[in-house]
Amino acid sequence: MEEMESIRLKDYLGMNQQDGADHMKVSQPTFHRILIEARKKIGCALVCGKAIRIHGGTYEMGMNPLRKFQCSDCQHIWEVMHGTGRPRDCPMCKSMNLHRVKDENEYTRTGYGRHGKHQQSI
Ligand SMILES: [Zn+2]
Repeated sequence: MEEMESIRLKDYLGMNQQDGADHMKVSQPTFHRILIEARKKIGCALVCGKAIRIHGGTYEMGMNPLRKFQCSDCQHIWEVMHGTGRPRDCPMCKSMNLHRVKDENEYTRTGYGRHGKHQQSI
């Protein structure tokens, strides 16, 4: 949590490191170390698409923008971008017997609380 605080003070509020350190009642080098650590985690979360844990809650960062559908008739599987709506028919055989295929690493709404209270194993 001190890592979040260091980011908030330094990057969000625009304090210099000494002010941030005073605020958190740590030495300037310690503040610097916390900040580096925090930025490393944020950078990794953005780059690797991993989840950042804040207050024990899990915020999904690596949301998969694709939804998979499968045709029940010809078993063809294809992907549709989020926000484009459910496809009406199979692009292969035009069958309307479609079902959604769940990705293992797919963003899930279950347990995604507004306050991030839910613990989710990844
Ligand atoms: Zn089909």
